[in-house]
Amino acid sequence: MKLSLRSPRPTRTAVAIASVATGMALTVPSLALAAHSGQSVPAPPANPTSASQIQNIDQVKTAIKGYYGDTVSSTVIAPGTDPQAANPTYIHTFDPDGAYAHEVEAIAAKAGKTLATHHKRTADKAILFDVDDTTLNTYSYEIFSNFVYNPATNANFVMAADPQVFPAVPGMVGLEKKAEAHGYDVYFLTGRPLAQAGATVANLRAAGYDVNPEHLFTKDATAKSEPWLASCIVPDPANPGQTKFGCSTIQYKSMTREHIESLGVDIVANFGDQFSDLKGGFADSTYKIPNPMYYLP
Ligand SMILES: [Mg+2]
Repeated sequence: MKLSLRSPRPTRTAVAIASVATGMALTVPSLALAAHSGQSVPAPPANPTSASQIQNIDQVKTAIKGYYGDTVSSTVIAPGTDPQAANPTYIHTFDPDGAYAHEVEAIAAKAGKTLATHHKRTADKAILFDVDDTTLNTYSYEIFSNFVYNPATNANFVMAADPQVFPAVPGMVGLEKKAEAHGYDVYFLTGRPLAQAGATVANLRAAGYDVNPEHLFTKDATAKSEPWLASCIVPDPANPGQTKFGCSTIQYKSMTREHIESLGVDIVANFGDQFSDLKGGFADSTYKIPNPMYYLP
C-alpha cells in the first residue's frame, strides 16, 4: 500500500482531441499512434502557424458531451458546493447507453476474452488498472470544472468517495471479476496522492471493485514509503537546499510496475486512459481506455 503526496497533476492540455500526439510524437510515428489509440482525428501542431490547424474549442467540448451522452443529475449535488443554495450545483453524468459507455464496454469485453483464453495459467499473474477514467469515471468533475483541473476542487470530488459522483467506468467491474475468476490478481496504480488512498479504496469498492489496499499504489512524492522511487527525489533548483519529485508520470508508473514485477508478479495486462499509464514497459500487453477530456504527459 503506497499512498502518499502526489505532486499536483501534471500540466495538461484542457481539451484533448489533440492530446494523443503531444507526448507520443517523439517516439511513435503518427500512423502507428492513431492505430494504437483508435484515435483517427489528427492532432493540431504544437506550434500552429494558422488557426485553421486547430479544432474550435467550443465545438470540441460539444463533441465530448455528445460522446459521453451528457446528462444532468437531479439529485446528486456537486461535492464542495452548497447543498442549501437556492439553486444547488448538480453533477453531470454520462449516459450508460451512450457512445462512450458502449466503446469502453467493448474494450473491456475483448480484454476479458483475451485474458480468459489466451494466457497460460501461471502463478502470480496479474492485471493492473489506472484509477481515474480507467476504473472510475470523472466526467462529473470535468464538466463541473469546465475541463480545467484544480487540485482543491478535484479533491472535493475524490474525497467524496461516492460512486454517484465517480461511478465505475462501464464494463470494467465485470472485467475485473472475470480476470479474478481466471486466477489473476488485481493491482491499481494511480497518480493520486497518499492522502487520497483511503477515499480511493472506498470509492472503488463502492463502485463494485474488489480492492486489496496493499495492491493500491498511490504516489509518494517523498518516496519514503516507496523506496524504489528514491531516484526520483532530486534537488529543487527553485528552492535551494530542498528536493522535489523529479520523475515523469511514465517513470513513476513504469518504476512502480517494475517494483511489482520484482516481487514475482507477472503483469499480463495494463489498463490506462493515458499513454503515460502505458509506456515504459513492465506489462505484457496494454489497453488504452478512451478519454478525450484531458491529456497527462
Ligand atoms: Mg487515468
